[in-house]
Amino acid sequence: MATKRDYYQVLGVERNASEAELKKAYRRLAMKHHPDRNQEDKNAAEKFKEVNEAYEVLSDAQKRASYDQFGHAGVDPSMGGGRGGPGFGGFSDPFGDIFGDIFGGGASRGGSRSYHGADLRYNLKISLEDAALGTTVRISVPTYVSCGECKGSGAAKGSKPTGCQDCNGLGQIRMQQGFFTVQQTCPSCQGSGQVIKDPCASCHGQGRVQQQKTLSVNVPAGVDNGDKIRLEGEGEAGSKGARSGDLYVHIHIKEHPIFSRHGGDLHCEMPINFSTAILGGEIEVPTLTGKVMLKIPAETQSGKVFKIRGKGVKPIRSSLVGDLLCRVLVETPVNLGPEQKELVQKLHESLMSDNRNHSPREHSWFDRVKQFFDELKHKH
Ligand SMILES: [Zn+2]
Ligand SMILES: [Zn+2]
Repeated sequence: MATKRDYYQVLGVERNASEAELKKAYRRLAMKHHPDRNQEDKNAAEKFKEVNEAYEVLSDAQKRASYDQFGHAGVDPSMGGGRGGPGFGGFSDPFGDIFGDIFGGGASRGGSRSYHGADLRYNLKISLEDAALGTTVRISVPTYVSCGECKGSGAAKGSKPTGCQDCNGLGQIRMQQGFFTVQQTCPSCQGSGQVIKDPCASCHGQGRVQQQKTLSVNVPAGVDNGDKIRLEGEGEAGSKGARSGDLYVHIHIKEHPIFSRHGGDLHCEMPINFSTAILGGEIEVPTLTGKVMLKIPAETQSGKVFKIRGKGVKPIRSSLVGDLLCRVLVETPVNLGPEQKELVQKLHESLMSDNRNHSPREHSWFDRVKQFFDELKHKH
């Protein structure tokens, strides 16, 4: 694996570079190495990727802190880093927006820049019962809200954002390129037309801070491992009124002490005693919705599977309810007293004394062994 260059080096900035300096350096390099502009140069795409990666990390306060402390290992997703703590990982492309502005020609929206919020992922562990029957779960997720200290302006108390001098507060500048004049978002103020000289301490000039919010998630009956529930607009808040991302709740079903699930069917194992297996009887079988009685016919062999119709799960994308498949295991009695042993001995002798077949499997097993040895003899 190739070693990665230092992210600050990639962007050509000091380690203490401000957010604005980072953004400025990133915009300059991204434009320089953009693959659309360097179609002959094969290295441009690599450089462009490197610049993007460096900016993605350094522009995120949490990732930057982690990178400063642990280096690349602190921000490499394969190393278990990333933002948000357990159960969370953002997956959005913040760059689409920026390039929309730089390269979109006349598509420049003019005025203030905004970023839509990232989609977020939440891993939700639920029981098999809740997955089968449906439930409502309250979850707590981190989110950005407008900073109360500066009322979202990003400027420290007592100060105000001031008009950007590079673009005279227009948010746009004109650049001469060959014969063309290109209008571009002002790199000094990122199009806002304003610069913050004295950033708010509690939000570091971002105008938004992270908070926990509680959400109610409706888990529909029949969900299975890996299903995703989309909560529209409950992802990261967008900046300056841009649309919020979505929250994707990923379902993980906890292991159940009795049942295992295969699509719509539930499987379980039931021990039964040997006298019930011989004489037949009724046993109580658990289901997700309570107990049912299962009739065990006489002479039931260990390992036989009984199907209890409609006591499985109705998968979310199916109209059919699955079955409960109950595998019975005949148990050998333990802790017998002398009298009981004597009774078993008597039973054994009685079974051996007639010429009826009392052990269907044993007989067919010995038949097969005999056949095997006979064939072996014929070969030699
Ligand atoms: Zn603030
Ligand atoms: Zn400006």
